[in-house]
Amino acid sequence: MWGVSSRRNPGSQSSLREANRARIVEAITHHGALTQVELAGVTGLSPATVSNIVKEQAAAGVLQTTPTSRSGRRAVRVTLAREMGLVVGLHVANRQLRLALADAGHQVLAERMLPLARDHRADSELDRVMLLILDTAESVGAGLDEVLAVGVGLAAPVDPRSGIIATRGLLRGWDGVPVAEELESRLHRPVFVDNEANLGALAEYRMGAAQGFRQAAYLRVSHGVGAGLIVDGRVYRGGSGKAGEIGHLTLDEHGQVCRCGSRGCLETLVGSAALAAKFPGSHVDVTLRDILLRADAGDASARRVIADAGRHLGIALAGLSNLIDPHRIVVGGELAEAGELLLSPLRHALERSTLATAAGVPDVVKGELGERAEVLGAVLFAIDRAEIVAGRFDAGDRAPVAAPPARRESGVTSFLPQMTREISPERGGLAS
Ligand SMILES: [Zn+2]
Repeated sequence: MWGVSSRRNPGSQSSLREANRARIVEAITHHGALTQVELAGVTGLSPATVSNIVKEQAAAGVLQTTPTSRSGRRAVRVTLAREMGLVVGLHVANRQLRLALADAGHQVLAERMLPLARDHRADSELDRVMLLILDTAESVGAGLDEVLAVGVGLAAPVDPRSGIIATRGLLRGWDGVPVAEELESRLHRPVFVDNEANLGALAEYRMGAAQGFRQAAYLRVSHGVGAGLIVDGRVYRGGSGKAGEIGHLTLDEHGQVCRCGSRGCLETLVGSAALAAKFPGSHVDVTLRDILLRADAGDASARRVIADAGRHLGIALAGLSNLIDPHRIVVGGELAEAGELLLSPLRHALERSTLATAAGVPDVVKGELGERAEVLGAVLFAIDRAEIVAGRFDAGDRAPVAAPPARRESGVTSFLPQMTREISPERGGLAS
């Protein structure tokens, strides 16, 4: 198959070998730990080539191998060596912050969660984040210098060109703040910022309920409502980062004024404040958690509020479905915990309002990664952006490898076949 004559072109054999090395490291960077057999499947290289390159790269300190078993057979699990570096994923939601520290091979080493005050502000929270990252790295015996990149998901649309929140008023204390720059100046590490739902979509697509669906949407229903779109296997952000802002789709032009300044947005019907306000006589803060607990205990009004939210979401998703035509819609965020109580009326409304095609309507499922989807997506985003493969090889004494075969942005690289199996905790993937 590789019939390259080394006599005619003396450089070609070694450059082929370099390209194969890059392919193997790239596959592990992208998918996390794999066995040698899985590596051969993903890269299309022969088992003997994989085995030789893994052995050589393990000796060079790039890869790490551990014995494991698959279906009762002995196998070799291959990961990036810990020395390849760490990444941090951060999710700044409206009322809480999540952090995950992972190695470049997708293994989560430590996670943290902190509640956030209402109307939290970027300056003080970024100071806290810096300390939290230092502390978390220390807890696994690592230093900041080992962190290759930090990925941040914010609860507002982010302009991909500037990294600044694209629409003011949605995360007030963070408006106009160049978050990547501010955090970089504190940590002296590269920081990349995106919208939370985009990162949730990325994680569900790579390792959760949207795996194998190159046209998919991820709906996050929590304090607010947002969507992340996967178009042709890549996260679609739009021109200024507001693609997927389904929470601010007008459903009732005479409705309540929304925090975005518009009227009758989906969020004014299904956001956590809107749901809480539906409980008559409740003057204290009713949280989504309270509503979920009440519904679970059989409270008819809580169940009704959730079903109504499902119906409104279904109508909005019908519009989204007519526009981007996804094959699967994954529902995440705290309200997704209601399961069928939310999803069944949602599907019903979606079926009623979307254009029918021969393929039917998009399939709607609950997310597999739960409340961690966004922070895990932030880890994947950081790994993608860190350019670990090229950077590390170039920095070392080894001959530089060819550039990765495809630009790694947020989608799946084109040369890798789709992986449709689940990444189980046993494999040490991010799902662990
Ligand atoms: Zn709005």
